[in-house]
Amino acid sequence: MTQVAEPGTPHAHIPTPGRVSHWIAGQSVVGTSGREGPVYDPATGLVTRYVDFASANEVSAAVAEAKAAYPAWRATSLSKRTDIMFRIRNLVEAHRTDLAALLTAEHGKVTSDALGEIARGLENLEFACGVASLIKGGFSEQVSGGVDVYQIRQPLGVVAGITPFNFPAMVPMWMFATALATGNTFVLKPSEKDPSASNLIAELLAEAGVPDGVFNVVHGDKVAVDAILAHPDIAAVSFVGSTPIARYIYETGTKAGKRVQALGGAKNHMIVLPDADIEMAADAAVSAGYGSAGERCMAIATIVAVGDVADPLVEAIKARLPKITVGPGSDPASEMGPLVTKVHRDKVASYLDSGPAQGATVVADGREHPLYKDSNGFFLGVSLIDNVTTSMDAYRDEIFGPVLTVMRVKTYEEAVTLINDNPYGNGTAIFTRDGGAARQFQFEVNAGMVGINVPIPVPVSYYSFGGWKNSLFGDLHMYGPEGVQFYTRAKIVTSRWPDPGTSKIDLGFPRTR
Ligand code: NAD
Repeated sequence: MTQVAEPGTPHAHIPTPGRVSHWIAGQSVVGTSGREGPVYDPATGLVTRYVDFASANEVSAAVAEAKAAYPAWRATSLSKRTDIMFRIRNLVEAHRTDLAALLTAEHGKVTSDALGEIARGLENLEFACGVASLIKGGFSEQVSGGVDVYQIRQPLGVVAGITPFNFPAMVPMWMFATALATGNTFVLKPSEKDPSASNLIAELLAEAGVPDGVFNVVHGDKVAVDAILAHPDIAAVSFVGSTPIARYIYETGTKAGKRVQALGGAKNHMIVLPDADIEMAADAAVSAGYGSAGERCMAIATIVAVGDVADPLVEAIKARLPKITVGPGSDPASEMGPLVTKVHRDKVASYLDSGPAQGATVVADGREHPLYKDSNGFFLGVSLIDNVTTSMDAYRDEIFGPVLTVMRVKTYEEAVTLINDNPYGNGTAIFTRDGGAARQFQFEVNAGMVGINVPIPVPVSYYSFGGWKNSLFGDLHMYGPEGVQFYTRAKIVTSRWPDPGTSKIDLGFPRTR
């Protein structure tokens, strides 16, 4: 059963299949707070489900279960936990088309992109299967007479993940794969815009043998998030979302004594030098600018065209735009789906007014696409805005939609200064044939992830993901080796097995020589 509704409008209660409930202690738990939110099919504009919003008490119930499950999970042997991680990996892989269908139905992304998201998430599960060697400590023998010192890494306890709408399957996997493998128990608060993938993942984890209470899902909004941040039994919080909320999560969580990593928004620049292969750069710009309707934190938001490359590059990008097929994500012919909500789509479209009002040139206006006007879905065609400058809203804001902007600069130095002065520092890329220029760029650019002729340099799972500046609050990046560090803490043991016959009192400070 579906209905049309605007967010916040009263609606008739629709019963379970159309309801997304919490997952606590290995089972679906219907919310009792009396609060809920609509979940849309962005391709039709219809409300297809309602998601329960947790109260602080419901969050506490999930945390209590996670706390109760922690001692046994932590004590589970590494080989058994590894075995379970392999099973999770295989079940997610086996159900990837089911998961992808949920992503398309609630996020709107096209099926191939949804499958791509799951493939990148699977990498994190595969990485976590190697936990036995990832948490190996160090050992120093005979640091003093008969004394050995060694380091072990232990889990933190109950940890929480708060995730954004744009990767409803992959970002939770960034977090829980390493958290569970290292012996923590987990409470996930997914985006309320596309919550269903988390529940399917929870079911797969249960099927894989994850004990009840080790992985829990509470749905909701700020109320649930604030309850997580305030809860004394949560040791650490991983967050991915927009910068203002990331900053809030970091400040509130650390003040409450928690370990926090909070990844924020982005404005990713792609520099194109005059010597670059124009066709290759144009293909990359179009793929990275409009893929997933621009709703990727690593999307290229702005092209920085250096010198006389600008005119031919803009022409080459423009020539590619009519070939992009926009349509429902479930249609195999579609290359770009709708945006996640109407509110977001309209905000994205507003830059097509503010841009020219502030002096930019609209080369392609996505509002001219027939689906923008003729569909109830949240569609917007691809847009290109040229001659954008740093004072314009189209540059200052993270647009997070299929609007690519072009900035024109005279020199490489000007281009790098532009990036380094930007408050975000997530990803960036350079397109050139000059190895020396690329190396210089990698050396001096202030961003956490750099692509050289690669427009979306998302690190593979055995490196860690994270930006600089306002794109990440905290010390450790997400997943990979830094994820292992985040979800564990070191304990150093100094040990002696003396001959009882040589024991004596010594009030001096322990000596090594
Ligand atoms: P968002 O910040 O609106 O929401 C993220 C999470 O925070 C959701 O679970 C949401 O329920 C919760 N939340 C929202 N408002 C809140 C509030 N006032 N108080 C407490 N919690 C709140 O982000 P979004 O729109 O879901 O996702 C898009 C954003 O995420 C973009 O800015 C994008 O760049 C960013 N993002 C960053 C990365 C990265 O790795 N840096 C990756 C993906 C997305």
